[in-house]
Amino acid sequence: MIPGARLIILGRQGAGKGTQCVRLSRHYVVPHISTGDMLRAAVREGTELGKLAKDVMDSGGLVGDEIMIGIVEERLGKPDASTRGYILDGFPRTVAQAVALDEITADKPVHVAIDLDVPREIVLERLSSRRVCRDCGTNYTAKGDEPSPWICDVCGGDVQQRADDTPESVSRRLDLYEEQTAPLIEYFATRRKLAVVNGVGHPDHVFKRLTDAIEVRR
Ligand code: ADP
Repeated sequence: MIPGARLIILGRQGAGKGTQCVRLSRHYVVPHISTGDMLRAAVREGTELGKLAKDVMDSGGLVGDEIMIGIVEERLGKPDASTRGYILDGFPRTVAQAVALDEITADKPVHVAIDLDVPREIVLERLSSRRVCRDCGTNYTAKGDEPSPWICDVCGGDVQQRADDTPESVSRRLDLYEEQTAPLIEYFATRRKLAVVNGVGHPDHVFKRLTDAIEVRR
């Protein structure tokens, strides 16, 4: 397999984008660029961006387009992404971001935007038991018998519920997804860049469906 791919992963919160992106990133040897992870790191480090984004994120709102476009443009300009490619997770999230991304990537357009499709009822169930390592971002599912504190198997960090995985914030994010992000599915379909992949089932099966969809377009 020749490394390299330029991918966008769309899908509801809890569709499994984070988990699948880690695997895709190893498979294609390209960076996994998650705007949510970048913002959470900024919040932890207390940078100007972090201070600005924290309240918006905790309430489940969206950070301004201009700020997000600036962050992504800078990241895509780094040598790993500009030579081998990338997996964009969490961006674009609005049509304005998608239009800006088209301009930023005019020389080397994305190969495919994947809609990792999981129905709302299923993601709601997954999100209520989602726990995440604060340090490396590995996702876990709480079953109710975990030790406290819960230590990450991968890096030894603290495994916790995300500050924005409260029922109110989840419901607001899912509503915003339908309003602002779902129109992107149409946007990429019109440009013949869309592949819809069923995200329900064992993660290995979902991964196989993803790579099958990517291979025909890469
Ligand atoms: P989720 O998809 O579970 O909501 P993410 O980890 O992708 O979570 O993002 C967490 C939060 O970071 C979002 O709810 C939003 O506040 C902010 N965010 C991430 N990416 C973007 C973006 N492209 N545009 C605006 N806000 C963003």
